[in-house]
Amino acid sequence: MNKRIYLSSPTMHKEELQYIHEAFDTNWVAPLGPNVDNFEKELAAYAGVSHAAALSAGTAALHLAIKLAGVKQDDIVLCSDLTFSATVNPVSYEKGKQVFIDSEYDSWNMDPEALRLAFKKYDGINLPKPKAVMMVHLYGSPAKIDEIKQICDENDCVLIEDAAESLSATYKGVQTGSFGKFGIFSFNGNKIITTSGGGMLVSEDEAAIKKARFLSTQARDPAPHYQHSEIGYNYRMSNVVAGIGRGQLVHLEAHRDLKEKIYNRYKNAFADMPQISMNPFLDCSKPNFWLSCILIDKACPVKPYDIMDKLAEQNIESRPIWKPMHMQPVFADNDFISAHKTSVGEDIFLRGLCLPSDIKMTEQEQDKIIDIIKSMF
Ligand SMILES: *Cc1c(COP(=O)(O)O)cnc(C)c1O
Repeated sequence: MNKRIYLSSPTMHKEELQYIHEAFDTNWVAPLGPNVDNFEKELAAYAGVSHAAALSAGTAALHLAIKLAGVKQDDIVLCSDLTFSATVNPVSYEKGKQVFIDSEYDSWNMDPEALRLAFKKYDGINLPKPKAVMMVHLYGSPAKIDEIKQICDENDCVLIEDAAESLSATYKGVQTGSFGKFGIFSFNGNKIITTSGGGMLVSEDEAAIKKARFLSTQARDPAPHYQHSEIGYNYRMSNVVAGIGRGQLVHLEAHRDLKEKIYNRYKNAFADMPQISMNPFLDCSKPNFWLSCILIDKACPVKPYDIMDKLAEQNIESRPIWKPMHMQPVFADNDFISAHKTSVGEDIFLRGLCLPSDIKMTEQEQDKIIDIIKSMF
């Protein structure tokens, strides 16, 4: 069997171990400690935000963002439709209701036009006013943030940015995750940097981040005994895990540059094939190129699953585009709003495929992937 080529797997260096050793040597293995404090400071400085709370997962960060945005039972949250379920599940944890917003073709992210339509429909008269907007920067490509932020401001609605996949991607030179009232990052194993598992909630609102730290450590009131006035969670990041994060953070830009090279090699290789295009990005943005994806022309008989199967025969991992949330059985009763007659997200799902984007992949390995794909057309 050939050596497996991964979609995106952890890439470790030596600094991670140094910080782990430090944690062991000082016995700051748990619970919190200097690595957590410093990882929060270093990540916040990198992302250009004032405050950050290190948590056990990106999903935990999303959950606390939803809570801090004040989402309660039956509240409406307008959510990106084309995304991973973790983006939208926390709305259900708080018994809110997701309304899914279609994508646009320029960045594959939330369509501002559809978002406007949603605010017209959920106008506070016939239907309740949305409590928050939850948008994602898919595969590391920034969404049309200026438009989305303006629509949120006009409607006095909290914006939450799921930047789980887009750490180091910028929009007009500004880091994704820093635009919303809340931003979240993930350090799950396959993300651009990883802590093995973890997440970060960021905001300009210091009180909100302090509240997040409070909720994430079991909501203990300041008292000598264990006293609770609220329901808490065990969502904090450990000091060992934060050490891995600190070691990874210094390599983030290098990871990004390697991801960009991978994307450009695919793009150049498929340039002479009108049947294939790459996942697009806005001119005013710089993606982090977390995953390179292709979109196959509608008329083409080759389908994404054909390519996926062919690559799998050679022990090469590829993955379908996220299946849109409005197509998920669990959300069958949720509203979906598009500016088009047919869903853009569904079209991308049916025609797209995520290709191996692992930064340890050699040029020869990538050439092999390219050759396999080209041979199918
Ligand atoms: C990975 C991911 C998450 C969840 O992050 P975890 O750290 O795995 O909990 C959320 N949203 C998106 C878009 C993701 O890709």
